[in-house]
Amino acid sequence: MYDKIKQYFQDNNLPKFRIKQFEDLIFKQFVSSFDDMTTFSKDLREQLNENFNLYSLSLIETEKTKDTIKFMFETEDGDHIESVLMINGKRRTACVSSQIFCAMGCKFCATGAKPFKRNLTGEEIVEQVLFISKYLKKMDERVSNVVYMGMGEPFMNYDNVVESIKIFNDRDKFDIGARHIVVSTCGIIPKIKEFMNLNLQVRLAISLHAANDELRSSLMPVNNQYPLKDLIEVCDEFTKKTNKKVSYEYVLIKGVNDSEKDAKELVQLLEGKLVHVNLIAYNPHEFADFEKPAKSTIINFKNILENNKIESSVRRSMGDEISGACGQLAGKK
Ligand code: SF4
Repeated sequence: MYDKIKQYFQDNNLPKFRIKQFEDLIFKQFVSSFDDMTTFSKDLREQLNENFNLYSLSLIETEKTKDTIKFMFETEDGDHIESVLMINGKRRTACVSSQIFCAMGCKFCATGAKPFKRNLTGEEIVEQVLFISKYLKKMDERVSNVVYMGMGEPFMNYDNVVESIKIFNDRDKFDIGARHIVVSTCGIIPKIKEFMNLNLQVRLAISLHAANDELRSSLMPVNNQYPLKDLIEVCDEFTKKTNKKVSYEYVLIKGVNDSEKDAKELVQLLEGKLVHVNLIAYNPHEFADFEKPAKSTIINFKNILENNKIESSVRRSMGDEISGACGQLAGKK
């Protein structure tokens, strides 16, 4: 919409500074409507109201816990998407969705359990962070980090995701440092290559979840097309080219991928590489029959990695009580 509105300003010979004012009102002041744009004349506000909707998403619901707020939006075509704000120390991380559901079919994931609908537009991705920013502004706070870990596989919506990253990173817009933006992919190799050649300095996370092809293919069908060896190879290339550590996300599922043997296989796969492993305890949900491992299993798994010099952390599962945790975003439809 912003591009169309900017075009409208140009077509109607409005002075250039109006576009700058418009961008400030959207990206710095997070106004809710054209009527709030009081720096514009009443006549211009009326024209804008007649010709455009300011936002394509409508915020329909928020759910909060102490450190997590889930935002539910409705799209113009009536679908629902979700984003999550995570509060951690000084960090305010917006976890955004890039698609309406997902076609990748990972067996443990609530988003993948429902039929894929469509890619989100760049604007729909950006608006999730606009609404979260508006929420934070009331507390005099701002979004410090953006992670593409909500609904959808970002690299299956590559162009719109890249467009949104550029807007988040733009100094005149959100001004979020590239190092504070993470794109998480299940491993679409050609797109990882394309992405690293853009040299955006954005960080990359890989949803790994298994350290051998047989297990990974059974959990994540994408592994049949892009097997582990090729995936790790391209991630090594990413690190070499960007000088950035790749994060590997590993959801620990009881009795599936959480044994000592699994941990040792993971060591073998990643040893000697500049990586970080994020261990996440599986968050149970209605769409899959898996269970969370015991705390002692998680600690044991982490110790095996650490003893073999693989840097790792156990990600505190934020938001599972509101279905806003990893792999749980499924919308209401
Ligand atoms: S884990 Fe990611 S890629 Fe896999 S189905 Fe879920 S949203 Fe899609």
